[in-house]
Amino acid sequence: MASGIPLRPSDGDLYSRMLEILERLVGFDTTSHRSNIELLDYVQELLSGNGIESRLHWNDEHTKANLVATVGPGADGADGERGIVWSAHTDVVPVDGQAWDTDPFALTLTDTVAIGRGTADMKGFIACCLTILSRVDHERLTVPVTLVLTYEEEVGCVGARRLVEELRGWEGKVRGCIVGEPTGLKVVVGHKGKQNHRISFKGEPKHAALAPLLPNPITAAAAVIGRADILNETFRVQGPHDDRFAIGHSWINVGRVEGGVKPNIVPEDCVVEFEIRNIPDHSCDGIAAELGRFATGEVLAGMRAKSDAVEVRTEQLTDTPSFAIDPEHEFVTFVREALGAKEDPEFVPFGTEAGLIWGHARIPTVVCGPGAITEAHTANEFVALAQLEQCLHFLRSLPLG
Ligand SMILES: [Zn+2]
Repeated sequence: MASGIPLRPSDGDLYSRMLEILERLVGFDTTSHRSNIELLDYVQELLSGNGIESRLHWNDEHTKANLVATVGPGADGADGERGIVWSAHTDVVPVDGQAWDTDPFALTLTDTVAIGRGTADMKGFIACCLTILSRVDHERLTVPVTLVLTYEEEVGCVGARRLVEELRGWEGKVRGCIVGEPTGLKVVVGHKGKQNHRISFKGEPKHAALAPLLPNPITAAAAVIGRADILNETFRVQGPHDDRFAIGHSWINVGRVEGGVKPNIVPEDCVVEFEIRNIPDHSCDGIAAELGRFATGEVLAGMRAKSDAVEVRTEQLTDTPSFAIDPEHEFVTFVREALGAKEDPEFVPFGTEAGLIWGHARIPTVVCGPGAITEAHTANEFVALAQLEQCLHFLRSLPLG
């Protein structure tokens, strides 16, 4: 009969060790645009202290990396067994413009919470993983544990996307993956997808007296915005619908418009940025393509009728695929049993790397980690100490020993 993860005996207790590690992790400013290498150096040192090898997968500029480390039976080399995967992103959102009462990159402890950038999202979870991995007894582990740490999740799952190819090769060698985003340690089995797009319209800046003869990039952009509104109304009324979500349909949010100089000049350009949030059975690519076709088809043709010196350009800025796994899936049940979860698995409104790991690499995945999403990305971000303690206990009781 399998029991929890076997640990080596040690002097200190796990909980205070976890807080020490969390303090170090919060101390690295890993805001998405910055390097995460110092943090990974620390992680590698911690893992190698317990004889665990790890590999870095670098970005093209060699400034950031993903880290993969496996420990346990059959975990030799790149083709080895992977067992249970613990996955987290190392980057955090910026603190610019936020009114913090404490240094965001220094851990502050009260009687009940740990405060600091990333404590909830998701360095608290990483600290729990590292505490266990730095003490795990390799010999007595019956199923391998793999740690995956990524970069630039907060700007569109950039690092995880670079890992998908490798993750696909883990088929048959992996049981499932826990993405430790802050869910209050509830088991999450689905979320919407999210893509950011930009459409740029270009014309000729001229005297407004000539406006009737010229294409207008701002009104062209307005036409596309109007089309987004019509599509939204269709999604709301006709669907597709997915009642597992509080808002059970897809939506295009027009989030930014910029164009023109002043009323007496025909504008030279206009840029529209929008975010699509799609339910799992409604293709985000399809919605973006429909809007793009309208912009580069009908709208561009209308501009061309007045001048050849026009341009409409569409760009995709980010992509966080939707996620949905069968709540009855064997791996979901495995995690729920380890947690002692009584409630039904949940669907949440925020995106994670689970859509790539399950949707693109077919590794059974749940999202489950300490802290609340409402505590993430804010000034004075915090995680409850009770949640960290419970997470430590949860990871440790996974029946792998
Ligand atoms: Zn996160």
